[in-house]
This record gives sequence, structure tokens and C-alpha cells, in this order.
Amino acid sequence: MEKQLKRYRMYINGQWTDSVSGETFESYNPATGEPWSIVPKGNSEDVDRAVRAAYQAFEDSSWSRMTYTQRGKLLRRLGDLIAERAEELAKFETLDNGKLLREMRGQLNYLPEFYYYFAGLADKIHGETLPIDKPDMFVFAGREPLGVVAAITPWNSPLYLTTLKLAPALAAGNTIVIKPSEATSASLLELMPLVEEAGFPPGVVNVVTGFGDPVGSALTSHPLVSRVAFTGGPESARRVVVNTAQNFARLSLELGGKSPNIVFDDADPHNAAMGIVAGIFGAAGQSCVAGSRAFVHADIYDKVMEHLVKRAAAIKIGDPFASETEMGPLAIPAQLQRVEEYVQAGLEEGARLALGGKRPDGMGKGWYYTPTVFENVQNYMKIAQEEIFGPVLSVIPFRREEEVVQMANQSKYGLAAGIWTRDVGRAHRVAKAIRAGIVWVNTYRSISPIAPIGGMKYSGYGREGGMEAIYEYTQSKVVWINTSSEPMPDPFIMR
Ligand code: NDP
Repeated sequence: MEKQLKRYRMYINGQWTDSVSGETFESYNPATGEPWSIVPKGNSEDVDRAVRAAYQAFEDSSWSRMTYTQRGKLLRRLGDLIAERAEELAKFETLDNGKLLREMRGQLNYLPEFYYYFAGLADKIHGETLPIDKPDMFVFAGREPLGVVAAITPWNSPLYLTTLKLAPALAAGNTIVIKPSEATSASLLELMPLVEEAGFPPGVVNVVTGFGDPVGSALTSHPLVSRVAFTGGPESARRVVVNTAQNFARLSLELGGKSPNIVFDDADPHNAAMGIVAGIFGAAGQSCVAGSRAFVHADIYDKVMEHLVKRAAAIKIGDPFASETEMGPLAIPAQLQRVEEYVQAGLEEGARLALGGKRPDGMGKGWYYTPTVFENVQNYMKIAQEEIFGPVLSVIPFRREEEVVQMANQSKYGLAAGIWTRDVGRAHRVAKAIRAGIVWVNTYRSISPIAPIGGMKYSGYGREGGMEAIYEYTQSKVVWINTSSEPMPDPFIMR
């Protein structure tokens, strides 16, 4: 008997709708490799409908007339509703992207804090008067929303990465059209009834489901879109840069990395090893900040490796819904294939497997891969330079501080870094020397709505989170007022 699949619709202008073409596609459960839901396959017409709705809502609706305080209240209400439904939303994320329910539950339980933080900022986006160098002029500068924001999100943490865009965009008074990854549309569509219940007027938040091409391309090149927030891979990002150039839409890019996790000889080998394991095997390595290059001081290399390999070998792989599971499957089959190709490339370049390097036995059709640790890695090898986005760690020994800083920076990416040391001077020195947007010392993967996230170099530009996000979703306006009661001076005397 054919299994009944859950059927989704898109959310445009406060309405649930099929795609204009009526076409759909299936979304898969990575733990079983089986389809579980049906999602509308949007095209440029659906995008146009959504962008026009968002534009209308921005230009002329109760949203555009709403006070910032009231907008903050709606965001706070949305945070409360997410807190109430966190468990359910987490289950949809796990079903769609295969990440551990434990992890998604943790993310969803923390997500309301992002809405509360930006709700609090909504009515604190104030301007300033300028001590202008001319008589009889009163000049002030304020910040205004940009208009329609387009958010493009990937499959690894769908609601968290959406929230980093949605919450500040709304706090600043914009409207938004979101395109989730075609692999993980469910949790975002499940969020929309909460958006409605929180009281956001129709058209303020819209979701168009479908593929990067045509939905992502139509959205990022739409003339009514003023701002694009993109998280994903570099290839799509390049296309998005070209698309936004058509209309000079502002852009932020969050593109992943090849983050170094550096263990100095004064670090506790066990703690550092646990930090490395968390940095690369959490989320099966499908994290933009994955600490995929571990640099370990030669004097404690053996001890760190012993703890690291022991703990990584004991990782329980399995059903992401089971409470004892520590690592689930990869989210999409292409990712599994990519991991296998990189492991092969590592072996061909002369790296040695200290652990893993294969699919686990007995996992049926699920897209699982074992925790994999490479030794004998040179920093120039493919596995040390390219983002694998899977559970594959490259370990590289070092002796001197300058040497490891140089190797850490010899990467086209610059998103995150970890430093393990008890020497406070060294912690500051190395944190300053590393070209990355986030540096963690004696911890890894800590996040907060208060701290901006974003990269340098190929990891992209723009920041999400913190006050910086508000600046990224607003633009300044300066108003000059002549307070003089004197007649206008000669128009050809400029001052
Ligand atoms: P993509 O860059 O293809 O996907 C990210 C988002 O962009 C998806 O919603 C995708 O849609 C969309 N997209 C694709 N093409 C376009 C386009 N032309 N215009 C606008 N949007 C588009 O990432 P992948 O899923 O292919 O992953 C590739 C690699 O990217 C990973 O292996 C990893 O290295 C990196 N990555 C980094 C992430 C991060 O957190 N920084 C997250 C995910 C991936 P659709 O899914 O429908 O194709």
C-alpha cells in the first residue's frame, strides 16, 4: 500500500497556496532514505506574487503604520509561541534533515531568545542629532528599514539560520520572503501558523518553496527586493552576488569555512580533545563553523589523539530521534557522496586514517557515515583546504605559535577558530592574529543572539546577530532643517 505523505502548501500574503504551476516535489527522511512529505515546487511567478505581497505590506499596511514598540511585542509573542511548540518544531527539523532530535530540541528551546533579543531592540533603533558646522541648521540622522528582504537558507539548521535573518529584519520594520533549502522546507512552513497567531499582518512574512533555480534566482534578482541574506555554499553565493548586482540590493553572505581548532601544549589534553570532538562531530560536521582542522602541539599530540580517537570511536551512530544517539545521518545523499570523495582524496594524497573512513554497517538505506579522523595531513592537502561539511577531521601537529598561526590563516576561509590554552596572553595574541569572524577560547560552537556571527575572506561578509544585525537591516537618513528666519541668501553662494 502506498504510504500517505504529508502535503504542504506555501505561505504567501497570509494565504496557504499551491505553486502556480501546481507542481510539487518530495522531501526525504535522511534516516530512512524514504520520502515523507510533498512540497510545492515554486517558480518565478510564485516569487513575484510573494515579493509583491511583501512590497505592498511594507509600503502600505498596518505593518508600515505600526509603532516599533508594537512590532517588538509581536516578535516577543512569536518567541513565546515558538517556546510552546519547540518540541514539535524540533521533530520536523529532525525528520527533514536527520540531525539529532537532542540537538534540534536544544536549538529550538534557545530560539525564542533570539526573538526576545530583537524584540527588545525594535524600539531602540534611534538616531542622533549632529553638531553640524553651520549656523542655523538643525541636522539629525535616523535609521529606516530597507524594504523587502529575501532570505535564502540551507538545510543544516533551517529555523536557526532563518531566525538570524527573520528576527532582526522584522525588528527593523522590513518585510520578508524566505526560500528554504528544497531539502528542508517543513519546519519553516510549520512556523508560519505561529507567525500568523502572533499577529503579523498578511504579506509581512512569506515563504516560497522550491529549488535554487528558479526560486532562489528569481528572488535574489527581483527588482522589488532591497536586501538579500544568504547562507549556503560558495557556488550559489556567486550567482546570488551577480543577481543582486542587477538591482544593487544589499547582501550578506554566510558561506561556511575550514575552521582551525588549535591545541597548545599547556592545554588539558582531555578537555581539548572533547572540544575537538564537539567541534567536528556535532551535527555530523554539517555546520558552517565545524572545527575541521585540528592543530595539536607535538608535545601533547599523542595524548590528545588518544582521548580524541577513543571518544570519536565511541560515538553512537543511529536514529536521530533516539535519545542515546550522538551522531545521525547526513542530510542529503549528495553530501554523503561528497564526504566519500573527500575521504578518497585524502587517502590518495597520503593522509592516514586514524578512525572511520566508511559508511557504518547495518544502517539500511539511511545516509550515514562514520566519524573519520585523518592523521599525517599536510595543511595544503584538499582535505585540509576544502570544506567537506561532514564528519571528517584533519589533524596536523605543530611546534611554534607563529607556525600554527600561519597554517591556520593559510586557508581561503575565515569563519571561526578555536584556541585551547591556559596562557591568557597567548589566547589574546592568537585570537588577534587569526583571520576569522569568531574565535572561541577553551570552548567551541557557543552562540548567542547578542554576539554577531559572520566571516572573513571566502566565508562571506556581513554579520548576523547582535546590534550589527540591526544596522544590516536598516539604512541611515540625514535630515537638514534650516532654522533661520532670515531670507534665503544669494543662491550662488554655497556654504
Ligand atoms: P547551496 O548553496 O546550494 O544551498 C543554499 C541555499 O541556496 C538553498 O536554499 C539553495 O536552494 C539556494 N540556492 C541554490 N542555488 C541558488 C541560486 N542560483 N540562487 C539563489 N539561491 C540558490 O548549498 P548546498 O546545499 O548545495 O551545499 C553546498 C555546500 O555549501 C555544502 O557542502 C557546504 O560546504 C556549504 N554550505 C554551507 C552552509 C553554511 O551554513 N554556511 C550551509 C549549507 C551548505 P536549494 O536547496 O533548493 O538548491
